[in-house]
Amino acid sequence: MIVFDLQCRYGCGTFEAWFRSSTDYESQREAALVQCPFCQTADVAKAPMAPRVPKKSSGSPLARLAALQSEMLKDSRWVGDRFAETARAMHSGEMERELVHGNATIEQAKSLADDGIPVAPLPLPVPPPSQVN
Ligand SMILES: [Zn+2]
Repeated sequence: MIVFDLQCRYGCGTFEAWFRSSTDYESQREAALVQCPFCQTADVAKAPMAPRVPKKSSGSPLARLAALQSEMLKDSRWVGDRFAETARAMHSGEMERELVHGNATIEQAKSLADDGIPVAPLPLPVPPPSQVN
């Protein structure tokens, strides 16, 4: 199924219509089966596509995950590429323990885990603070 934003030639506005495919849309439109829901004219055309902005909804799984992650990272310090060495230094007692997050390669994460240093992958990628506006 495919959804198109359609526009009535008489200015009623845009509306959404579902089709099996874009060829299905073409043939239905040629057969005048696609009609404006407001004035029933078959004189409709595809509306200019607007970028679909995700709706701000706290209900979406991704939004919930993002909220969860920012809650997790609230008290955590960004250490960037120094994550592995920071985690190791804290584990060996060279550094005071604190919550940190940063970048680590799969190899680094594996080697930390092998040494019994608890690391957990974050559900979502975190942009370095320098890249956040
Ligand atoms: Zn209309």
